[in-house]
Amino acid sequence: MISPRCHEFLNLFQRLVPKIFINHVKNVSTSPSDKVRVRFAPSPTGHLHLGGLRTALYNYLFARSRGGALVLRLEDTDQSRLVPGAAEALERDLAWAGIPPDESPARGGPHGPYTQSQRLPIYREHAERLLQSGAAYRCFCSERRLDLLRREALRARQVPRYDNRCRHLSQQQVGEKLARGEHFCIRFKLVPSPEPFQDLVYGPVAYDVGRHEGDPVVLKGDGYPTYHLASVVDDRLMQVSHVLRGVEWQVSTPKHLLIYRALGWEPPQFGHLPLILNPDATKLSKRQGDVSVGGLRERGIFPLALLNYVTLAGGGFTRDLYRTKPCIYSLPELASVFDVGRLNAHSCRLQPDQLREFNRLELQRRLSSGDDAELVQQVRQLVATKFARSGVQLRLEDEHVLAVLRWSQARVHTLRDLVEPHLAFLWVVPSTAVDLPPAHRAVLERVSAEVAGMADAQFQKEWLKPWLQRVAEDSGVQFRELMKLLRAVLSGLQEGPGVAEMMHILGRSETASRLDRALSVLKTHSQ
Ligand code: GLU
Repeated sequence: MISPRCHEFLNLFQRLVPKIFINHVKNVSTSPSDKVRVRFAPSPTGHLHLGGLRTALYNYLFARSRGGALVLRLEDTDQSRLVPGAAEALERDLAWAGIPPDESPARGGPHGPYTQSQRLPIYREHAERLLQSGAAYRCFCSERRLDLLRREALRARQVPRYDNRCRHLSQQQVGEKLARGEHFCIRFKLVPSPEPFQDLVYGPVAYDVGRHEGDPVVLKGDGYPTYHLASVVDDRLMQVSHVLRGVEWQVSTPKHLLIYRALGWEPPQFGHLPLILNPDATKLSKRQGDVSVGGLRERGIFPLALLNYVTLAGGGFTRDLYRTKPCIYSLPELASVFDVGRLNAHSCRLQPDQLREFNRLELQRRLSSGDDAELVQQVRQLVATKFARSGVQLRLEDEHVLAVLRWSQARVHTLRDLVEPHLAFLWVVPSTAVDLPPAHRAVLERVSAEVAGMADAQFQKEWLKPWLQRVAEDSGVQFRELMKLLRAVLSGLQEGPGVAEMMHILGRSETASRLDRALSVLKTHSQ
């Protein structure tokens, strides 16, 4: 959530990493019969990106692999950072990706509401409980004082931290301040926590948060909780059994464990997912088109291709899942082999070429499984958007679109590739205004007559190419000239695939009809 904090946490995390004792003993203490409830808890401050998608996917797979449930919870307690429409878009993106939650703001469920801003009384009640037990206290420090502390720390090259001053106010002092109507927030008292916690991915992680950080705010002056309180309270009340989230939150976990203890609750198990990096090992790309789920969808990436791709940046499967033969796994297949103990504990680089390859494989999979009605529809839409103009005749019949799709599956990576200019001939019937030298009429007539007599099965690139060479030789026309002529007649373009291939893709009857059209124009001109 809360991205200024996110950056703060990330920086802090990077600085603290050497101090965190990590080893890779992994210990997943659930048995298959345990009731697994996991959650994906994004803040609606932007669009779903690959990092969030991966977290959602792993939670989904974990839930499915254990017969459990996935909860979507919107963490919108930092009202200043909300992006209008982001909450709805998140749920739509998850649905598009094929990993819809079982309980969510839109679907509802027995533990709702699932939007934190609708749960304020719940957080207030728990903050009060912490106050009453002495695990939390009111802090009256002004923004000015806190700012001063921050600046002093930065000047001294230290990590800013609250100095816990209000921890030590007497009851009488607190009473006086309350009577004067002074504003306050509620802070949680950090106590020493030297013992490590078992991270499902990283093994034992020790970070004595009380030694390194000031007491965190749990309820702000405006009555909104901070992330720490809200996430602990909700995970408990929503009966979350396992928390799988990005490693940038690992530094918060010891704090959360202290809050669980103070509230007398058994904590869930925590596992943190490694950072995703750009191919050059820098922090994940800022170019939204590359990493936002919506941007990738716009570029024609299929949901299942994206999900398979995302699993490369995180592990969770036996090593050779993708090594034996690159292929697309369905969600049930992924869930059946998902093993939380195999998640990577090291940062993972994205490999965009693999995404294109996965997309091609998904196109193939859909075509071979007969799941093609939607593809045909999508292609139609792309073609219409790109080429529909008045006076342009388009070829959009089901049969033609399907034939093109079948031809294309070994050649293109996205459906968008099919409307690139060099493939326009597939869709646009060339204008009859092509200027053809009348001297070419004889050779065109010959080609047309031979095509008319051919069998559909003969109409293959491998067969057509030598045949075209023979026609050129027999007619005394240079092969290059003949190709130029046929290319103009068949596509109206100067570039594109080879003519034999073009004829093959167009098919015999479309080739014949384009030849006839050109010939009839030539005849009219020469009359
Ligand atoms: N709201 C946090 C985020 O936006 C989620 C942290 C968590 O999963 O606990 O990433």
